[in-house]
Amino acid sequence: MIQLITAATLEKAITKARTVKPRVRVNCFGSYTVTNKTTGATYTVTCEKRDGKRFASCTCRAGELGRACYHLAAAVAAHIQLATEQASH
Ligand SMILES: [Zn+2]
Repeated sequence: MIQLITAATLEKAITKARTVKPRVRVNCFGSYTVTNKTTGATYTVTCEKRDGKRFASCTCRAGELGRACYHLAAAVAAHIQLATEQASH
């Protein structure tokens, strides 16, 4: 499920991501594998831009229900950093 990302919807998820500190691996620009280091569970987060709006989706249960999970928040943070780095080259 794809959802619109705004700072407000991500706020709680970002707070949780800071606590859980999942590992984020970049598959390619816009595709990330997020690993919960405690449980070993991995999820794939996809970020994309359509019509100037940012969308993201996660393969976990919450993500499938269209909720902003912390995997998504962690991957979006990595995505924004990557996008910023690419823009500066
Ligand atoms: Zn998730």
